[in-house]
Amino acid sequence: MTAGNGKAGSGRAGSGKREAGREFRPDDGRVQIFDTTLRDGEQAPGCTMMLEEKLAVAHQLARLKVDVIEAGFPAASEGDWAAVHQIACDVGGAHGPEICGLARANERDIDRCWTAVEPAAKHKLGMTRSQVVAAVASSVSHARTLGAQVEFSAEDAARSDPTFLHEVLTAALQCGATTLNVPDTVGYSTPDEYGALVAGVRANVPGIERVTVSAHCHDDLGLAVANSLAAARAGARQVECTINGIGERAGNAALEEFVMALHTRGQFFGLHTSIETRELARTSRLVSQCTGINVPPNKAIVGANAFAHEAGIHQDGVLKNRLTYEIMSAETVGWDGVGLVLGKHSGRHALRVKTEALGYALTDDELSLVFVRFKELADRKKLVDEGDIHALMIREETGSMREMS
Ligand code: MN
Repeated sequence: MTAGNGKAGSGRAGSGKREAGREFRPDDGRVQIFDTTLRDGEQAPGCTMMLEEKLAVAHQLARLKVDVIEAGFPAASEGDWAAVHQIACDVGGAHGPEICGLARANERDIDRCWTAVEPAAKHKLGMTRSQVVAAVASSVSHARTLGAQVEFSAEDAARSDPTFLHEVLTAALQCGATTLNVPDTVGYSTPDEYGALVAGVRANVPGIERVTVSAHCHDDLGLAVANSLAAARAGARQVECTINGIGERAGNAALEEFVMALHTRGQFFGLHTSIETRELARTSRLVSQCTGINVPPNKAIVGANAFAHEAGIHQDGVLKNRLTYEIMSAETVGWDGVGLVLGKHSGRHALRVKTEALGYALTDDELSLVFVRFKELADRKKLVDEGDIHALMIREETGSMREMS
């Protein structure tokens, strides 16, 4: 909602029963993870997924233990309704995540959303884009009559007049909204500013302690995760994010980055999530396959090079003790493999580890011979892959190369 530009409102509906006291949950520092890969993420150009792909991603998000899955926008198309309904049926059981859908602030959207998510075990309905307090009140009230959990979302809150924002959020809360979302829809905010926005909402909306404040950030300035972390420090207890940070324009806050920041810097933030971090790499690969959007190699947490070390001095240090150059272990996020990239900067130690990982047992003399050939090859080729290493072994003429039994 931007004061003055006349945008309509919209919302989210989900199905399933939520424990009655959720909105009164005492603050134990747990930040709920609201995944919108299947809604905001799928809205990104070229990211459209088929029903089977959406189901596969939803099942994997459940294994990852996200708290809420926003499965789609049921009023947008028959296909979207069907996908949300199927996910609500298959994934939204009593022990699964909450399933929700997006709806604009009108009864048709809300009803479509409700019928789609009703089979799941928990209910949620969020509203965004309402400029008119009366429309907010009637929409939230209508959603509540359906028995839904209601998330009200004030679109473009970060650029709205704070007094009007507080007024609209107060109306939504009084009509029964259980989560209040203050999105930075256009990715304009900065961490200090966005943290202050959340703090302002918590200070100026009566009854705010009974509901969950949610953050929703976009990455137009590369600040989505930083802004989400600032919001959590200011008291937001739900963060909306996507796998691999996919989403409209520059994308949403990357789930894996936000989660691992809290995980790795737990003492600093004093906050945590319920995410099963060992499922992060697998989830990232699945979403990449289903959307056709590649993950850049230098992407934090899930990029191919995120745990790779090529420089010889780094490789030697990592092999002696991974914590030398790693602030978290690759295993924590579900990476398998040695994670060493061999190139012209690599040393003997890395070559020995790599060859052993590939099944070769070399004497020191043999390793020296192979190392010379390896350096010759690395001068001509940017990266030496596993196939190259096997080839170096075959070219060796001493006949003493052997595979370990
Ligand atoms: Mn968004």
